[in-house]
Amino acid sequence: MVNAQETVLEIDLNALKHNFEYLKSKLSGNTKFLAVVKAFAYGSDAEEVAKYLETLDVDYFAVAYTYEGVALRDAGVTTPILVLHPLPVSFDTIIERCLEPSLYSKRLLDLFIACAETHKQSNYPVHLKFNTGLNRLGFADQDIPEISEALSKTETIKVKSLFSHLAESEEVEHPDFTLKQIERFTAIYKKVYRYLDYKPFLHLCNTSGLLNYPEAHFDMVRSGIGLYGFGNDPRFNKHLKPIASLKTIISQIHHIKQGESLGYNRAYIAAKDTKTATLPIGHADGINRQYGNGHGFVTINNQKAYILGNVCMDMIMVDVTNIDCKEGDQVVIFDTNHTVDTLAENANSISYELLTAVSQRVKRVICR
Ligand SMILES: *Cc1c(COP(=O)(O)O)cnc(C)c1O
Repeated sequence: MVNAQETVLEIDLNALKHNFEYLKSKLSGNTKFLAVVKAFAYGSDAEEVAKYLETLDVDYFAVAYTYEGVALRDAGVTTPILVLHPLPVSFDTIIERCLEPSLYSKRLLDLFIACAETHKQSNYPVHLKFNTGLNRLGFADQDIPEISEALSKTETIKVKSLFSHLAESEEVEHPDFTLKQIERFTAIYKKVYRYLDYKPFLHLCNTSGLLNYPEAHFDMVRSGIGLYGFGNDPRFNKHLKPIASLKTIISQIHHIKQGESLGYNRAYIAAKDTKTATLPIGHADGINRQYGNGHGFVTINNQKAYILGNVCMDMIMVDVTNIDCKEGDQVVIFDTNHTVDTLAENANSISYELLTAVSQRVKRVICR
């Protein structure tokens, strides 16, 4: 890549391919791979990522909300798309754009059946989500008779899969809770199979589940963060490549004298004469205020430069007192060497949050 001349998020499709192949190598031949591309593919570029993964024969996509699926259809994506958290207001759009809803309560099931009837559908594919311990979204075990009764009265929808979601699959030292969830899911699908005269396929694992619990792969895995280069564990991170690099440049250098203040609310007061660099990236770009006042850092000429004072909307100021640098030089916020998880940890956050925070104002550059 040429040096950045403005704030850019570079997306490396070769790294994406590497991660996809690494994760696939953990699966048996007939396990399907669902790529989670919600939240702009974890802050990268959902359309580019999805279109590229289609060329690698990914089996399924998932998004959180309906309009995210619509954007993929608009971009020409034809692979099945599971909408993990659809709301009834978007059910018409789901059907119009051939998206597949996750139904997680009797209320949604009834509303979706009614909507599918209006649209004169038959066997419209839906996915039933069960709660096995996360206590976030999902039917309960006891709902099964009621679900089956509703299904028996209609031809409009067909259950394509049954799934659930793990609460702490990155936890390997204490697997008890995850094993309990696997057990509950197994009991649930067996019960559903007794009620239906066909067998929806099954899926439970996210990236950490895929990596840590091979016995729980079932018919498909749902991977997000792994595709983007993180395995929530150093053992796996070393096999994965971060696909996104956030870069910017130095707009201006200031020499401030001991006792002078810097930035809003004068949050930083120089203890000694200090050289600072002002960078064109701020909280409106995804560098939240929690990174201010020395919690976050960037890398300039391979040296760490800490953020001084409060993060502004469009700018941060960093300490370059001991760094040989000039206006116009490239600055790395995170890349493959200075990883997003290290920066996030410094400010009490996680890779998922910092990646998805990079706002749409930041230009995406696709590297093939
Ligand atoms: C976001 C999400 C995933 C992906 O999780 P990763 O840890 O990023 O692999 C999988 N399943 C569901 C239901 C999700 O909401």
